[in-house]
Amino acid sequence: MDQNVIAGVGNIYSDEVLWASSVHPEQRVSKLSEKQKKEIFKNLKVILLKSIKLGGDSMSDYRNPYGEKGRFQDFHKVYRKTGQKCGKRGCSGIIKRIIVGGRSAHFCPLHQVLSPQNF
Ligand SMILES: [Zn+2]
Repeated sequence: MDQNVIAGVGNIYSDEVLWASSVHPEQRVSKLSEKQKKEIFKNLKVILLKSIKLGGDSMSDYRNPYGEKGRFQDFHKVYRKTGQKCGKRGCSGIIKRIIVGGRSAHFCPLHQVLSPQNF
């Protein structure tokens, strides 16, 4: 959730990237392992490219210059899925919403766990 690392990654993408990377939204950036950082950058790239391919995300008011909606919102795994079953293969978690640094974050408490050395 720390905007100092990659400025301006919106809530949708930060939720989706952390979910795909199995990283808890309250995980401190300074305590991320090399493996976790690599996962985050890999998934950020994959997810942003997927959204671009789908014409962007129109969950809110985004429209392209022709007034058309994007379709990325149809592929959300975690963003605004509070109370729904986690879609990760083999995971039986239920999506939760918490506030982190004044922003809402959606995550799966079962597979997105804090590293023990987080605090
Ligand atoms: Zn899960």
